[in-house]
Amino acid sequence: MRIGIIGAGQLGQMLGFAAEELGIECEFLDPSEHPPAAECGHVIRAAFDDADAIEQLAANNDIVTYEFENVPVAALERLGETVPVYPPPAALRHAQDRLAEKQLFASLGIPLAAFHVIDGRDDIDVALEQLGLPLVIKTRRLGYDGKGQFVIREKPQADDAWDELGGQLLIAEQWVPFDYEVSVIGVRNVDGDTALYPLTRNVHRNGILHTSCAPADAPLLTELGSDYMRRLLDHLDYVGVLALELFVVGDSLLANEFAPRVHNSGHWTIEGAATSQFSNHLLAISNKSPGSTALRGHAGMLNLIGTIPAAARATKSGNLHDYGKEPREGRKLGHITVVADSAEQRDQLLAAIADCVT
Ligand code: AMP
Repeated sequence: MRIGIIGAGQLGQMLGFAAEELGIECEFLDPSEHPPAAECGHVIRAAFDDADAIEQLAANNDIVTYEFENVPVAALERLGETVPVYPPPAALRHAQDRLAEKQLFASLGIPLAAFHVIDGRDDIDVALEQLGLPLVIKTRRLGYDGKGQFVIREKPQADDAWDELGGQLLIAEQWVPFDYEVSVIGVRNVDGDTALYPLTRNVHRNGILHTSCAPADAPLLTELGSDYMRRLLDHLDYVGVLALELFVVGDSLLANEFAPRVHNSGHWTIEGAATSQFSNHLLAISNKSPGSTALRGHAGMLNLIGTIPAAARATKSGNLHDYGKEPREGRKLGHITVVADSAEQRDQLLAAIADCVT
């Protein structure tokens, strides 16, 4: 079995490590000179929208998947005529446009924050009128890790938001005074066999994921999140790993966004679950039964952003994953996971590591 992966970043690298264990050969497509996944297989060095390179990847492999979301959907749809492409390009089409994504949530009865489409400067005033303050303005496309966002806290800032983001497709979102953030990671294979990981509690800093802990101690929310995940998986006739990020407000969940790929908030599954999200993605797209998502304990993950301090390399209580990337401010360079017998122990371990490395 040969799998072609568009993107050779850390997600590709971790897919590559999982593939080795499953006896699957991987080839990657990525424009970077020394991408993290290069140690796991051949890399076709080309732009993500290079149609010839994408076709070459398809010709060399039995299945094509992606770990990077800004791939032209039309190119994937064309490929899909000759080779299986998973997750289905239709899922990526929705994920690439926040409006389509929100409309999908709404059509499936998945609750979400009120929103308003921004086509011109005047629409911001209408949105302020309808949705109130604070108001979050987001680019509809190409936003990630909190980039492409402006929070209007006072009305006069509407001009600043427009100056910064105007000229792109935009959407305004009502501010959610959330208690905390969670994600659900689900996996579905070609036959529709589905498995879900327990609800994961996430903390973001400056829009970037800081820590993830599983299981979130919230049975009712877990049930709700699982229900929303299953609606998405089934509606999209989804194949592969899907991540759904949600806000917790009291006893309810509001969907924020989904990612049709393996996800940072599922990195804890490498040590913390019987089968990692990476193995499960590969199993699902090659139409094998999903592996057990049972927990091996209380798991936590801490992202290493911008630098990997010596203390992170010296840690004995956690598992360091170094992606081998050049340090740069705001860049995800690695992560540390811990697995403990209790939530308290997990939280203590993670806090102690966070103290040393941040
Ligand atoms: P996103 O790029 O949409 O995932 O947003 C990045 C982070 O910004 C989220 O994880 C939240 O912490 C915060 N955020 C995004 N949208 C909202 C909102 N409508 N209300 C409150 N916080 C938000």
